[in-house]
Amino acid sequence: MRRAAIAGCGLSGAVIARELAESGAWQIDLFDERAHIGGNCHTERDSKTGIMVHQYGPHIFHTDDEEVWGYANRFAEFKPFYNRVKAIYRGQVYSLPISLHTINQFFKKSLSPDQAKDFIESISEQSIGTPKSFEEQALKFVGKDLYEAFFYGYTLKQWGVDPKQLPASILKRLPVRFNYNDTYYNCKYQGMPVNGYTDLIEKILDHPNIKYSLGQRVDDSLLSQYDHLFYSGTIDGFYGYRFGRLSYRSIEFERFYYDGDFQGNAVVNYSDMDVAHTRITEHKHFAPWESHEGSICFKEYSKQTGQNDIPYYPMSLKRDKSKLGHYLDLAAKEKNVTFVGRLGTYRYLDMHVCIREALNTGRAFLKKKI
Ligand code: UDP
Repeated sequence: MRRAAIAGCGLSGAVIARELAESGAWQIDLFDERAHIGGNCHTERDSKTGIMVHQYGPHIFHTDDEEVWGYANRFAEFKPFYNRVKAIYRGQVYSLPISLHTINQFFKKSLSPDQAKDFIESISEQSIGTPKSFEEQALKFVGKDLYEAFFYGYTLKQWGVDPKQLPASILKRLPVRFNYNDTYYNCKYQGMPVNGYTDLIEKILDHPNIKYSLGQRVDDSLLSQYDHLFYSGTIDGFYGYRFGRLSYRSIEFERFYYDGDFQGNAVVNYSDMDVAHTRITEHKHFAPWESHEGSICFKEYSKQTGQNDIPYYPMSLKRDKSKLGHYLDLAAKEKNVTFVGRLGTYRYLDMHVCIREALNTGRAFLKKKI
C-alpha cells in the first residue's frame, strides 16, 4: 500500500484522506501542530455552560452543492440553522445583509421591492463597470450612504486597510436583497452539525487506513517516508517565507459569560469605527434546538497576523500578488506535494468549497496515480 502524509487535520485534509483511504490503495497519516483536529472549524463544548463553542469563530454550513451537502450529512446529523445577522450603527440595530428592511429602516422609507430597486439605482454609482475593488463593488451595488454605514468602518477594522485596496470578491460574499429575506446566505442547504464540526471531522477520519498525530509538525525526515504530501498549512510558511510573508488577518477573541441571553442573536456586527471590535457572537444561538440558562460570548478584534498568531483570512493585497505568484510557481513544480485549503492555496474559502475542492483533488490524484 502506498503512503500519503497530510499536513493539517482540518476539513480539506480530512476529506482528501478519506477519498484516498476509500480507494483501498493508500495508507494516510495526518499531522497537526495543534492539540486538536478540525483546524479553524474546531468546536468544543464549554465546560461551564455546556454550550458548543466555535473556538475559532463562527462557522455556518451553507452550500448549493448537492454532493457536498450529502457528504457532510453522511458524517454528521445537521439541524437547520439560518444565520440572521444584525448590525449596530450609531445606536440603531439593522438587518444584514442589506435587504428591503435595511434600506427602508436606514432611509426611513417604506418602499416596495421595485421602488427600492429604483431608489438604490438612483443613489449608487452605476458608471462603475466591473468593480475592481471592495469599495467599487459597494458603491456600484448599494451606493455611498449604505457603504459608509455598514461596510467602510467594519471593513477597515476587519482588514486593517482601506477598502480601496481589497478585492471586490470579499464583498461579493454578501447578497443585496430587495425583499425581507434576512438570512445571510442565499444557499439552498444551510445548517449546523448537532455535535459540532470536530465530531464531523473525526467521523470523516474514522477509517482503518487513516491515522492522525496531534502536536506534531511535518518535517523533511518524516516526509522521506511518504509517496506524497498534501499540505494545508500556509504556502509561504512551507517555503520558509523566502519571497517574504503573505499577509493574513488574525482574530483575537475576548470571551465573556452572561447569565441569560446577552444579545438575542448568534451574530451582532458593530459597524461604527469607534467601537474596536467587529462583532460579538453568542454561541448558544448557533444551536437553537438546545436550551441553556447561561451564555458564552466572544468579542472579535481583528489584527495583522504576527509570527505566533493563527492566520485566518488571506488578504490578497496588491503586494501579495507577486509574492504569491512566486510561491505558486514553486508549487507547480512540485511532483510530490499538493497544496490544499484556505492557507495552502491562499484563498478565502468557505467550508463547502474546501470540501468540494478536496473531493476533486482526491479524485484527480487517484486517477493519475492508480
Ligand atoms: N462586511 C462588512 N460589514 C459587515 C459584515 C461584513 O463590511 O457588517 C464585509 C467585511 O469586509 C467582511 C466581508 O464583508 O470581511 C465578508 O463578510 P463575512 O460575514 O462573510 O465574513 P466572515 O464571517 O468570513 O468573517
